[in-house]
Amino acid sequence: MSQIRLSRVGHSYGENVYALMPADLVFEHGKTYALLGPSGCGKTTMLNIISGLLQPSEGKVFFDDRDVTQIPTAQRNIAQVFQFPVVYQSKTVFENLAFPLQCRKWERSRIRPRVEQVAEMLGLTSRLGLAARALTADEKQLISLGRGLVRDDVASILMDEPLTVIDPQMKFELRRKIKQAHVHARQTVIYVTHDQNEAMSFADEILVMMDGRIVQRGTPEDLFERPANTYVGNFIGSPGMNFLPIRREAEKLTLGGLPLPYPPVRLPKGEITLGVRPENLSFTSDTDPDSFPTTILSIEDHGSVRILELALGDARARMKLPREKAVPPGNTTLAVRATRFCYYVNGELVVEPS
Ligand code: ATP
Repeated sequence: MSQIRLSRVGHSYGENVYALMPADLVFEHGKTYALLGPSGCGKTTMLNIISGLLQPSEGKVFFDDRDVTQIPTAQRNIAQVFQFPVVYQSKTVFENLAFPLQCRKWERSRIRPRVEQVAEMLGLTSRLGLAARALTADEKQLISLGRGLVRDDVASILMDEPLTVIDPQMKFELRRKIKQAHVHARQTVIYVTHDQNEAMSFADEILVMMDGRIVQRGTPEDLFERPANTYVGNFIGSPGMNFLPIRREAEKLTLGGLPLPYPPVRLPKGEITLGVRPENLSFTSDTDPDSFPTTILSIEDHGSVRILELALGDARARMKLPREKAVPPGNTTLAVRATRFCYYVNGELVVEPS
């Protein structure tokens, strides 16, 4: 298990464009990280630099205090899980799991208990005698993971979209097992995904990427409650955060033409937007003094929740309302006092919810 440190690491594939902008980064040992972002943002480039499949065009990579920048993948003591399971189809599950230990010249008497321990951890005990080809895709992916976990010298486990080929029903189960295995093994895990639900439910910390840069690093709660910029607010959440334009009119802040209740004391110059999660909006009675008038424009039924489109003057917002909550008539009022608002100036967070 290792701390992984990138020192001014950046990469360009040849043209004068950075696929990964130079940056300093630390991944602490024993924690789980997700690299999250849309296609082409540089996730795989960063993972491949850490694994040694790619030499960065700038900077150095350290595992603890050891500079591994020039060291090939095979000597970095990492385990990798890719989109497609890498297994020896004709070998049994036991043989697949034992293989990395045989390569490291483990004694036979040590191999069996270790393989059985890892198989137990991954729920593969009943499969040990079967040929890998007889297994389902999610079980094969568990073997790929298990081949990393059996070794006791693994510095970290790197996963690149490991659930892509897994049936949607099995994803939850496989994710649970991967998490459980991490609780036992306490390896440093870096997990690449473009799926916010995978990242949020798996990682201690998420690094959201855009155009080769990390635009926010934080816990799932940080990304949800305090997006550092409007990009993260939009990217995280379904639907994403509402961003409502705020105007400065005669020293007052207005939203949709109406005075903004509880305006922040001081905001830097620039274009102001108020960010509020659709989940954090709620209705209140029209006698509530801490309210804001709104009109319901449309209602979308999503089964367990409804997504309402609201007019706040000339601004528009979406609200996520649990099914059991009643939808009031078209013209109604939004609760304001306890609502968790974020304020952005020129797209960057300047005031967090109190
Ligand atoms: P995806 O989820 O689609 O794999 P990603 O976030 O992992 O995307 P990368 O694969 O790291 O992104 O790609 C980052 C950028 O580098 C993209 O613009 C991509 O086109 C470019 N790129 C990736 N690999 C190469 C390569 N071998 N040669 C040239 N450009 C590349």
